[in-house]
Amino acid sequence: MALEEYKRKRDFKQTPEPPPKIGKPGQRRFVVQKHRATRLHYDFRLEMDGVLKSWAVPKGPSLDPADKRLAMQVEDHPVSYFDFEGTIPEGNYGAGTVMVWDVGTWEPEGSAHEMMAKGDLKFRLDGQKLKGSFALIHIKSRKPGSKGTEWLLIKHRDAYVQSGYDIDKYDKSVLTGRTMTEIAGDAGSAEWTSSKKVAGRGTSSKNDWLADSIAKADAKKARAARKSAAVKTATAKPVTKKSVAVPARAIKKNSKPRKA
Ligand code: MN
Repeated sequence: MALEEYKRKRDFKQTPEPPPKIGKPGQRRFVVQKHRATRLHYDFRLEMDGVLKSWAVPKGPSLDPADKRLAMQVEDHPVSYFDFEGTIPEGNYGAGTVMVWDVGTWEPEGSAHEMMAKGDLKFRLDGQKLKGSFALIHIKSRKPGSKGTEWLLIKHRDAYVQSGYDIDKYDKSVLTGRTMTEIAGDAGSAEWTSSKKVAGRGTSSKNDWLADSIAKADAKKARAARKSAAVKTATAKPVTKKSVAVPARAIKKNSKPRKA
């Protein structure tokens, strides 16, 4: 049905991505995934009729109404893609690092089905990074060979507008607090595959994986903080109260990425 194309593009023996299963209808969550594939882009997904309607947004969403972001509609994704963060192995469709950049709920401003059919979808987002009213507008591209999949993602004027919004300032996962570099170089990403296999046998649940993943990220941060504190002591820099209070995350950002 709606996930045929998703299924056709992937080999589920090779990729840690979730299988093409239709979810419960009636839920309205959204997720934005930062995806470093052949080219960096953001995948914008709205839960509708048990699947995630999906658009690839090369420059990512913006809270500045002046930004009209090109959004290429892609195949529907299964709702279990909602919390997929990790690495799609080389040789697979979409190979590269995936971060859960934002999650939340969405509310159509009108009939979702009618607006989708018309190619003029107005909605509100209540996420951790994205909030307020937006529109997705289907456009007719003048480009020769256009597949007709071009839409524009535009922020409406409201209390959540941020002029000059710079998406690069927000390179942190809402699930694990990790940067793209940390996800790419993290053993935790590879472990996603094995955890998922365990889940498939019914001995663990997805939430267990999530808790496990967050615990691992926290442990890593703590290790980095200890290491950094040790370095500070060794170089005999005066340790002020302020430097001790620097959060692990800030320290981590400046440390060298670990080789995979
Ligand atoms: Mn993608």
